[in-house]
Formats: sequence, structure tokens, C-alpha cells
Amino acid sequence: MPLEIVTIPCLSDNYAYLVNGPDGVCLIDAPEAAPIIAALEARGWTLGSLLITHHHHDHVGGVAELRDRYGCKVMGPEAEQDKLPPLDLALTDGDAGGEGDARTVAIAVPGHTLGHLAYHFPNAGVVFTGDSLMALGCGRVFEGTKEMMWESLCRLKALPPETLVYSGHEYAQSNARFALTIEPENEALQTRVQHIGALRSAGRPTVPVSLAEELATNPFLRADQPEVAANLGLSGASPAKVFAEIRQRKDTF
Ligand code: ZN
Ligand code: FE
Repeated sequence: MPLEIVTIPCLSDNYAYLVNGPDGVCLIDAPEAAPIIAALEARGWTLGSLLITHHHHDHVGGVAELRDRYGCKVMGPEAEQDKLPPLDLALTDGDAGGEGDARTVAIAVPGHTLGHLAYHFPNAGVVFTGDSLMALGCGRVFEGTKEMMWESLCRLKALPPETLVYSGHEYAQSNARFALTIEPENEALQTRVQHIGALRSAGRPTVPVSLAEELATNPFLRADQPEVAANLGLSGASPAKVFAEIRQRKDTF
């Protein structure tokens, strides 16, 4: 049975995801309970498990209410346990569960927060990245270092290129404006920016997108490309240094 993934807009620009597979229904992040309950009820589904990417309120605000209502199993990063609602299972890098298309592997992607996890479904070819890798962007580095965030993005870069990336926010349009300042000549980026504009005009989400497309267009993933370093006047600098410069510019964009 292939996975069925439902994208649920929450709060002002968050996404939660329902993943319906052979093991039941799993939720990735719970920004707020109401739209998630509505999406479950519309399909006659109950919630079996809940995976938290990181401790920020816009990813966990609905956890308590969903647990009360469904008795779902709540899992999240062990490293952030003291900042999270109570966990039934604390996860660290490499922890895995589920079978077939529902098989899930936690990948540590620190930087935005120190315990941030991404959830990779290797058999289904999808990854839920929260506030680490985002469409044409990446999360702001709040708790870790820029070098740490670059290393985390490198782990995601190494997944199979056909992997579909589902991130925690709809920031694609503002990310697109910024990306064009880094690589104005990138034709794949120009094409994607037009596509993003069309999707948003139609009120549609810009997720998911293939990792291959991110690799071709996301400036943060392209910090190891010589042409990106050259555009920034950093030819010969390490990818981590180029990444740090791009992140710095985005912070004040
Ligand atoms: Zn966050
Ligand atoms: Fe967030």
C-alpha cells in the first residue's frame, strides 16, 4: 500500500502532514489541533502516532489536544525532551520504525534547534524536514552554528535525488526573491520561481518538491557550487563559509 500524504495548512504559514500507510495514520508536527482534527474527520481516520521535528511552539502547539483526543503515540527528539510535551518515545539519529512504505528513519539535522530531527521514509521516497531544509531555503540558525546547519543540509543532500521534500512552512515566495539575488542567472531557478508564483496565485502549496530540484535551485544547498561562491566574491572558500555568507545575507534580507 503506497503512502497517502495530506498537507494541512496551519497557523499563518505552517504545514502539518498526515501520512496514511500500512501501520495507520501518522502526523508530522502539530502546529494547532483544529485543522488537523478536521482533516482526520473528513477522511474518517484516527491518529495513531505523532512525530515532532523540533520544540518550537508552531510545531507542537496542538500535541496535547491531539493526544487527549486520539491517545496517539507521541515521538520526538530526545535532545529536546525537556522543552517538549511528554514523549512516549524519545528519538535520536538513526532510530527507525515501521515497515514497508511506512518505514521511518530519524535523521539528526541540528542548526535551527540543537535537537531537530528530519523524518525519512526511505521506501516511500519522502522526507519531512521541518525547519531544516525548506523549499528554496533553510531554517534560521537559532541554536546551533551555521557550520552545523551546513553539515545537516549535507546529510539531506545525500538522500536519493528523487526524494520528495516536505518542509514545515510555506516560505517559498519570499525564499524565491532572495534566491534570485544569489543566482540571478540560474535558469532552473528562474523557471521554478515562475512555477511557485503560479502555485501561490492559485492558493496551492509549493510542497512537495524533489530533492533534485532543490539541488538545482536552492542557494543554501548550492554553497558548494563554484559559481555560487564566485557570485558572492568567495571563490575558493569552503562550502561551509559560503553557506554562512548566504545565511547571513538572508537574515537581513
Ligand atoms: Zn522552528
Ligand atoms: Fe517553524
